[in-house]
Amino acid sequence: MFSLPPLPFAPEALEPFMSARTLSFHHGKHHAAYVDKANVAIKDGPLQTASDIEVVRTARAQGNGGLFNNAAQAWNHGFLWNSLSPTGGAAPSGPLKAAIDRDLGGVEAFAETFKTEAVGHFGSGWAWLVSSAGTLKIVTTHDADTPLVHDGMIPLVTLDLWEHAYYLDYQNARPGFVDAWLAHMINWDFAAENFAAM
Ligand code: MN
Repeated sequence: MFSLPPLPFAPEALEPFMSARTLSFHHGKHHAAYVDKANVAIKDGPLQTASDIEVVRTARAQGNGGLFNNAAQAWNHGFLWNSLSPTGGAAPSGPLKAAIDRDLGGVEAFAETFKTEAVGHFGSGWAWLVSSAGTLKIVTTHDADTPLVHDGMIPLVTLDLWEHAYYLDYQNARPGFVDAWLAHMINWDFAAENFAAM
């Protein structure tokens, strides 16, 4: 069964870059709805006791789009909240920084490429820093799609590109939202933990 995790920070902690009002809808309404719908879909079935990631992967393997969309969105949003931090921005350090230097040309180049990919992504989806077969890459996925169902891909940190993530604070100006995430909210500590756990 999926559950709605509490936000790992106070709802107003990311202001002015992400408002408590945005989070009240995004976490309290959107994320909650994905959790509820995924749970309805697996209730009393063989996946009821499976892990969240198993549900996501099984739904994709079975071509169950309805379950996949809600289960993947439930998991992606849990990952998103940890990708945000009131003390975010700054820069990574240690082995993660070394890997970004090696594979992506440094932290500034990472930010430029991430912004280009995130802003250029058409429609709803997600932008991710992933490890793909041992190499760091920036990828975007459409709608609910997630690195969990791509072979060899391990997500390190993500940004939600659906308009519900930024419309109240930035209206349609996705570039400003991406800039604010890169400068003030990206949780490098979370990315480093995921990198170290690979
Ligand atoms: Mn979202």
